Formats: sequence, C-alpha cells, structure tokens
Amino acid sequence: MNLLIMGPPGAGKGTQAETLTAKLDIPHISTGDMFRKAISEGTELGKKAKEYMDAGQLVPDEVTIGIVKERLSEEDCRKGFLLDGFPRTVPQAEALEGILRELGMELDAVLNVAVPDEKLVARLTGRRICRQCGASYHVLYNAPKQEGICDACQGELYQRSDDSEETATNRLSVYHQNTAPLIDFYAKRGLLKEIDGDRPIPEVLVAIGQALGRDWA
Ligand SMILES: [Zn+2]
Repeated sequence: MNLLIMGPPGAGKGTQAETLTAKLDIPHISTGDMFRKAISEGTELGKKAKEYMDAGQLVPDEVTIGIVKERLSEEDCRKGFLLDGFPRTVPQAEALEGILRELGMELDAVLNVAVPDEKLVARLTGRRICRQCGASYHVLYNAPKQEGICDACQGELYQRSDDSEETATNRLSVYHQNTAPLIDFYAKRGLLKEIDGDRPIPEVLVAIGQALGRDWA
C-alpha cells in the first residue's frame, strides 16, 4: 500500500506511523530521516540540501522533491511505503504525483489524523522541567508525584516558553492554514481518509485499518 499520513503537532502521528509501517511491513519515509540519510551518504542532492541547511535557509522544493524521488525509487518501496512530512504544500503534492507516475505507482490513501485543538494544546503545553536537575515531566503522561516539585531532587518545576499556550496555539493555526489546501487537494482526488485521533493508540490503529479496508480489530 502506498500511503501518506498527515496530522497536527501533538496528534501522535509519529507513533501511529511506526506501528502502522510495522504492521504493513512497508518503509516509514519521514522527511527528516530522508534528509539525514541523503546527507550522511553524501549524495549530490544531500550535499545541496546540507548547504542550505548550514546557511540556515529553507531547502528549495526542487532539492526536496529530488530527494523524495530518490527514496521512492529504492527497492524497498516496491511493496509500498508510508510518507510522513511530505508533501507540505499543493505544489509539492503535484510534484509527488509526477514522481509516482514516472515510477508507475500511485497513492492508495491519505490518512488525516485529526484531534481537537484544545486537546492538542493540553498535550503541547504539558511539559515541565526541573530548575535544578533538568528532569523532564509531562502533566498528562508523566506527572511528578507532587505538582510542581521534582521527584528526583525536590527542585521547582517550570514550563519553558516554547511550551506556552500562545506558542502551541500559533503552531496549530500555522499548521491548519498550511494544510487546509492540501486536505482539499486529496479530498478532491477521493484519497482522503479522516481518522479520529482523539483516542488510545490501539483504537486509532483499528480505525486506520478500517479506513484501508483491513480488519485489524
Ligand atoms: Zn530535579
């Protein structure tokens, strides 16, 4: 199966992608991994990407698209793949269609994992750090025994400014603005599968299975 997964920050997309690719025995192709691999192998495109990244600039589409094409041409993608983090824009999605056409492939489905923003904000703002020893906690997933106090050293816990509600809300609004056209693009092609990501991970996977016509329950 040739799949694409999309989801906002905090939706648990990475974990779902790992489990899903293990289940379907297909490679998980995240943009970050793909760049690191091209750079560490020193391919022409990897070198180009590194120049932009070292200069603190955005890697241009032609380089990113070239790296995606190289990766999708590899043998292990013949049995399918899960793309994660690409495309981010409609022009990239159009380029992906072109790449797949050249390779004689097509997408089977686009999974859009949705979680209400207020839940995402709670997840994205829950981290607390110890001022004394740097230990990290999360009020939802890994709460300290006593609120605001480090289990290890009794130091005071604080919230980093990156984890503030304002930052989280901004990240989500940027995400929605950027992905809305992409969601339309795939909905028009009949590929979009909306997945309710607001439940435990095993249930999300069952829902993904159902959307793909697989009975995993
Ligand atoms: Zn501590």
